[in-house]
Amino acid sequence: METKPAIVNALSVDVEEYFHAKVFKEGTGGAIGGLESRVEASTERVLTLLASGTARATFFVLGQVAAAHPALVRKIAGEKHEIACHGDSHELVSRQTPKEFRADVRRAKTILEDIAGEPVVGYRAPNFSIGRAQVWAYDVLLTEGFRYDSSTYPILHDSYGDHDAPRFPHEIWRTGSQRLIEFPIGTTRVLGVNLPIGGGGYFRLLPMALTRAGIRRVNAQEHRPTLFYFHPWELDPRQPRPAMPWRHRIRHYIGMAREEGKLFRLFRDVKFDTIRHVLAI
Ligand SMILES: [Zn+2]
Repeated sequence: METKPAIVNALSVDVEEYFHAKVFKEGTGGAIGGLESRVEASTERVLTLLASGTARATFFVLGQVAAAHPALVRKIAGEKHEIACHGDSHELVSRQTPKEFRADVRRAKTILEDIAGEPVVGYRAPNFSIGRAQVWAYDVLLTEGFRYDSSTYPILHDSYGDHDAPRFPHEIWRTGSQRLIEFPIGTTRVLGVNLPIGGGGYFRLLPMALTRAGIRRVNAQEHRPTLFYFHPWELDPRQPRPAMPWRHRIRHYIGMAREEGKLFRLFRDVKFDTIRHVLAI
């Protein structure tokens, strides 16, 4: 019997401060001034975790973080991970005009390319904020030199997600001969419902084995790669805990103490590489 080579899945890390997270910002009413920066230490933990195995990842770095911590960006690139763009200010795309969005991604892409010394071709919107009303953003991304976007999570969710969006990499925009590929966050489909196996709060809340089983199921039954994501601040349970309503508090902090161990086991059991390698672009 012929054995097929194992499918390699894509791994991604959104590099931002804990206080850039939407739930944290909303919970504190935006009072994030004066909070200590912890992104360098938490991203170092991610790099150490990855160095203990074989996984390579795409790091979507916020432009403002790159400008403040250029050595961190150089270190990520130096360890053969991919540098990609998470925008500059972490403002939701749905709150920007096309002109503001273009300026934001251009600023961040320029900073990242200057520091990393290599072309940056991938983009992820803050909080997956490219919805059906923001399709104009794809044209901006293509004309600014991006080749793929990863800003959809095809699930039912209160603040993002489009359950009916395609679940695997596909061409989402074309201008002339230029194509933009969309790589959605991973889901597995059970009884007509897309279940999240791509990370975020779900991964912190649920047992690791569910995500692992979901990814293996997609690889074995649909013969497609999935995409997983997380943030360095999810591995940092000692980050400041300013006052915020309990529902924001639970949602932001849940599962952080166990996150690093769960990720270690996931990266040990599932094969991961950068988005660029998985898409072969
Ligand atoms: Zn983000």
